[in-house]
Amino acid sequence: MSGKRQTSPARQYRVPGGPHSLPVHGAWKSHLPAKESILPDGTQKVEFVRNRILAGLPRKEYARIASDLAPTTLKAGQILYEPGGTMQSAYFPETAVVSILSQAEEGTSIEVSLVGSEGVVGVPIVLKSHALPYRVVVQGAGTAWRMKADVLRREFDRCGALHKLLLHYVHALIVQLAQSSACNQFHTTRQRLCRWLLASEDLSGSNELRSTQEFLSQMLGVNRGSANQAAGSLQRAGLIRYRRGRITILNRAGLETATCECYRIIRSEFDRFFRR
Ligand SMILES: [Zn+2]
Repeated sequence: MSGKRQTSPARQYRVPGGPHSLPVHGAWKSHLPAKESILPDGTQKVEFVRNRILAGLPRKEYARIASDLAPTTLKAGQILYEPGGTMQSAYFPETAVVSILSQAEEGTSIEVSLVGSEGVVGVPIVLKSHALPYRVVVQGAGTAWRMKADVLRREFDRCGALHKLLLHYVHALIVQLAQSSACNQFHTTRQRLCRWLLASEDLSGSNELRSTQEFLSQMLGVNRGSANQAAGSLQRAGLIRYRRGRITILNRAGLETATCECYRIIRSEFDRFFRR
């Protein structure tokens, strides 16, 4: 074991105003018989898994790794990784939503990436760097599959279907990061809030999420006044209801009209590789 700091999965991310969570949806369905569908290459695919990377695996490949996937419930505010640590496990979210946060030295932070059922927390493991200069925090409580780092590395090195799907994910992630960088520079806080709300709904499967002004401002990288102003504007337009730290999306089509092109560019890139 190296002398590097290990991250305890039980640690919580304390944010002024309390924890933030999305509802936990449904129970584990792994005990149900898998439905099968035929992939373009003629192989069968599993359908009871919601995570789009795992769901894209041919049934035979999934069966080989199934025993290495541990069902896990992630709590809102739980820290999965701290900068300087070594990633011990990868997480394939089902209903959980995870934020990757960049923190400035003075304490302010901004969300670099949002990971949910379309992805995996653990890209540094497959890229064999095992580390990240960002904090990884559960933003929305929910379920995920946990896989040990050495198992994921071994599976990736087999160069099978999981390898291919993970490379597709890395590509989509690069597009997401690049587009987010452009978005932060060129688009308004209101547009970016719309994008964040739409992405959160896509990943959690719920139109309702809990989030304080403080948390919103951290996600958007703006002060609380600006975050509040943007949320108030969306509420006055009838697109959301924002009450006591709970945001309800009332008009998704309206949010899609109000957001910038970045939402569609990022989403289409994920949809290109991972079927819903
Ligand atoms: Zn944008």
